[in-house]
Amino acid sequence: MSKKDDTHWKTKLNEEQYRVLREKGTEAPFSGEFLDLKEDGMFHCAGCGAKLFDSETKFDSGTGWPSFTDAIPGAVNFEEDRSHGMKRTEVTCAKCGGHLGHVFDDGPEDKGGKRYCINSCALDFKEK
Ligand SMILES: [Zn+2]
Repeated sequence: MSKKDDTHWKTKLNEEQYRVLREKGTEAPFSGEFLDLKEDGMFHCAGCGAKLFDSETKFDSGTGWPSFTDAIPGAVNFEEDRSHGMKRTEVTCAKCGGHLGHVFDDGPEDKGGKRYCINSCALDFKEK
């Protein structure tokens, strides 16, 4: 990341968003504003505004983070994450590279078996 980019993100994002999106942090469970949101709409990247998740794919995983069974096709990238002694798959915004969360294979089986575990503060919500 260039210095210019870093200044851009520090201006655009609040402290928590910067920590999650740019430094791969994780918000505290059950703290996010979108956890229990059930309205119809679209979740966008809080960094660049790209469409990431449709509310139709959102489900209650009980983990404390907004969870989705699928992302908008092509909207996210996947990267292997071996931090904290675990092997996980990191989910990033395909447009700006911001860290969103992780994807796991223990989601609802009738919806494809994926669980996208995403930080609320990495998202913006636009009601339909
Ligand atoms: Zn983005």
